[in-house]
Amino acid sequence: MNTFTVKAFGTESTTADLKEMNIERREITATDVEIEILYCGVCHSDLHTARNDWGGTIYPAVPGHEIVGKITKVGSEVSKFKVGDLAGVGCIVDSCGHCESCQHDLEQYCLNGFTGTYNGHDKHLGGHTFGGYSQKVVVNSDHVLKVPENLDLAAVAPLLCAGITTWSPLRHWNVGPNSKVAVVGLGGLGHMAIKLAKGLGAEVTLFSRTPGKTEDAKQLGADHVIISTDEAQMDSVKGKFDVIIDTVPYVHDVNPYVTTLNISGTHVLVGYLGGLEPILNTVPMILGRKSVAGSVIGGIAETQEMLDFCGEHNIVSEIEMIKMQEINEAYERMLKSDVRYRFVIDMQSL
Ligand code: NAP
Ligand code: ZN
Repeated sequence: MNTFTVKAFGTESTTADLKEMNIERREITATDVEIEILYCGVCHSDLHTARNDWGGTIYPAVPGHEIVGKITKVGSEVSKFKVGDLAGVGCIVDSCGHCESCQHDLEQYCLNGFTGTYNGHDKHLGGHTFGGYSQKVVVNSDHVLKVPENLDLAAVAPLLCAGITTWSPLRHWNVGPNSKVAVVGLGGLGHMAIKLAKGLGAEVTLFSRTPGKTEDAKQLGADHVIISTDEAQMDSVKGKFDVIIDTVPYVHDVNPYVTTLNISGTHVLVGYLGGLEPILNTVPMILGRKSVAGSVIGGIAETQEMLDFCGEHNIVSEIEMIKMQEINEAYERMLKSDVRYRFVIDMQSL
């Protein structure tokens, strides 16, 4: 298969900084589009992958799965896009298309494993996939999204992961005008969860460890802010929430949040991957028919639904634009929860 070389930014090992490197992209097939990447959001998953927090990172690793850009080439069988169109790519660049999940627009739960935008198995070239910290990407057009023309393009990029990851559980658990939703952690995912839950008409509360974020949270649409380290404040919301979207990336005590769920309420973990410590107490779950659940990104159709909703409701991410060369410093700031509220890389800087 013919390939071409593009510049990218990635890392060679768990401890190395990200730096400029060259990677190969395939020439388009009949069903592919080629996209010139204009902006790429910086997700905490990029950092987890670069530093092998979850195990399984294959190096060199080129992160980035919040991609927006312009179509530069279109395969002969592609009718959905033409050269010059805006396009978005999220966390999924391929899936089997025929398993029960794919048949139900749940590519994120593809029973044969979806192909991640980075660190996935590249079905075309062998080896592993490289993400959006690069000049161009080639993607099967079924996995490419249409981007609303009325929104600021750079601020749309984070919708492709932070947006859909919070939208999917809000929709699955039927959040609407009568819902009481809480969001744990005000970062990239958290700030989108607030905006989207508000957009769906819910009453929204933020749980944060960081008192300095209260004003921002209210401006983003939160009706209430609870400082999660303050016991009296935590007690004041016992039994209140229908749905909690928990975006905390590291192990943390989920028990105090479960007590803030209403009868039949659900605490949805989207951040931390791994065993819970301290152990989860089933008493409030059993006595209140409460659930602790998880959710991963969202399907392609659902991502399009979210983008269209954002276009209609003028919802975008709050971003801080950085140059590609500033990514290592951005990761350090992300580790300190010092992001307001998503870094987006101007890919022209590469
Ligand atoms: P982020 O921008 O770094 O935000 C995380 C927020 O969590 C922080 O701003 C902070 O908020 C809070 N936090 C951080 N460390 C904490 C700790 N040790 N204890 C308690 N709270 C803490 O990260 P993100 O990009 O939103 O991603 C969040 C997590 O979701 C990551 O683990 C990421 O890998 C994962 N993720 C999952 C999916 C999925 O499909 N399920 C998709 C994308 C990302 P406060 O300062 O307000 O406390
Ligand atoms: Zn992500």
